[in-house]
Amino acid sequence: MQNLLSELKAIVGSAHVLTEGDLSAWTQDWRKRTSGKALAVVRPACTDEVARVVKACAEFLTQHPDSGLSVVPQGGNTGLVVGSTPDESGRQIVLSLQRLNAVRNIDAANLTMTVEAGCILQTVQEQAQAAGFWFPLSLAAEGSCTIGGNLGTNAGGTQVLRFGNTRDLCLGLEVVTPQGEVWQGLSGLRKDNTGYDLKNLYIGAEGTLGIITAATLKLYPSPKAQLTAWAAVPSMEAAVRLLGMAHQHLGASLTGFELMGQFALSLVAKHFSNLRVPLYRSNAFCVLLENADAESEAHARAQLEGLLEAALEAGCVTDAVVAENLTQAQSLWQIRESIPLAQAQEGLNIKHDISVPVSAMAAFVAGTDALLAQAIPHVRLVNFGHLGDGNLHYNVQAPEGQDAAVFLREQEVHVNRIVFDAVQAHGGSISAEHGVGSLKVDHLTHYKSPVALHTMRAIKQALDPQNLLNPGRVVRAH
Ligand SMILES: Cc1cc2nc3c(=O)[nH]c(=O)nc-3n(C[C@H](O)[C@H](O)[C@H](O)COP(=O)(O)OP(=O)(O)OC[C@H]3O[C@@H](n4cnc5c(N)ncnc54)[C@H](O)[C@@H]3O)c2cc1C
Repeated sequence: MQNLLSELKAIVGSAHVLTEGDLSAWTQDWRKRTSGKALAVVRPACTDEVARVVKACAEFLTQHPDSGLSVVPQGGNTGLVVGSTPDESGRQIVLSLQRLNAVRNIDAANLTMTVEAGCILQTVQEQAQAAGFWFPLSLAAEGSCTIGGNLGTNAGGTQVLRFGNTRDLCLGLEVVTPQGEVWQGLSGLRKDNTGYDLKNLYIGAEGTLGIITAATLKLYPSPKAQLTAWAAVPSMEAAVRLLGMAHQHLGASLTGFELMGQFALSLVAKHFSNLRVPLYRSNAFCVLLENADAESEAHARAQLEGLLEAALEAGCVTDAVVAENLTQAQSLWQIRESIPLAQAQEGLNIKHDISVPVSAMAAFVAGTDALLAQAIPHVRLVNFGHLGDGNLHYNVQAPEGQDAAVFLREQEVHVNRIVFDAVQAHGGSISAEHGVGSLKVDHLTHYKSPVALHTMRAIKQALDPQNLLNPGRVVRAH
């Protein structure tokens, strides 16, 4: 393998082939569940270098089929399903896209921007805003995740109910294939029915079919006003009814509808005493709504207040506040975004990122809550997520006082089975937005249909017959 490393150094420069020192930023996953060992972390600076690196690896693998060499594409390494870090073999190259971070072009008339894969999401948002536009993809990791990783996982976030997943925000891609060729698909076209949609094959493939090096993204006009409201709701049924009313009252202006369970909010209040969490003590759930209005702040406020009045009258909201200014709105969003950290401080829990049709949500939650309470008396549920998309982070925490590690060891398999069986029974998905990575590969085998799995394997085999890119992630080759 030394010859290969020398070749890679000749391509990207010795300083960008890392083999020694503390490589944990690239080899440990964000949740610190696993820590791998890389043959090297390779940091190319441009598409041509990515292509030459992949080609060198593919040729090496042809000559040494038993070497176990493979390549793990990596962006910001914030993924939550262990898909961007190497295994323990020491035979995987981590190919970091972080140096491909240029904004190549903003086309104002076409409402598009073309950016390289390593651009940090927040930078993309800021550059769009500086040009007078809005790039609406938004998630709590936006300060460190990259657009390549967002596309690789088809990330969701808080604006999906209006703008869709990352897939819906992308018009074109540039991709390095597992053979080291470059597919130049950076079109800004909104219409192009010329055969199979290759772009959508690579998006959400988690680096198993190709390496995204650049993307053409959709831009939107900046809204005139973005108003946030916080509403207390007595039950999941009420939350779903409020969502229906919000669609009716706000139409396309409704850009966020986030649900937070009482226990999840109590953890924020407990672990972040600087944050004032409103209205949660006597309500089963709270909802954060966002109204992005094209007219004016006064119009946005009147719309939102009209909705909340109607919802109070209908009994699906018990109390509500509309943020008076940006600072208040940011504080409300900060509460929502602090839930993952608050639950981490409370101790490890069993995480699920599930989706079911919105119409099935109340039945899913009632049924699954009851099954878990029966199986594990006093179990605690950290329930929050993007209700507007039918997506919940339905996390299961040990009963108070019980050791979290022991709980995980003893209950994880059982709890996963209860939750995933219920998801399937309600026509849902066991991974709504985080992807499959290596954490959910085995679950997928169980819950995805044999026809779907067979087709996915056939695609992987056709595009990457050497199994060079991110093997063992998403779908096993055999
Ligand atoms: C605090 C926090 C909040 C989050 N909130 C959300 C949320 O609301 N919604 C949501 O959907 N996700 C969320 N996530 C997870 C989400 O998947 C990631 O934050 C983000 O999309 C991954 O980007 P990344 O650059 O860090 O990718 P990485 O973690 O580096 O990689 C993720 C996957 O994509 C592949 N990949 C990376 N770059 C490329 C590329 N250029 N070409 C091909 N494949 C590539 C990797 O191989 C890996 O399989 C959150 C994560 C954190 C830590």
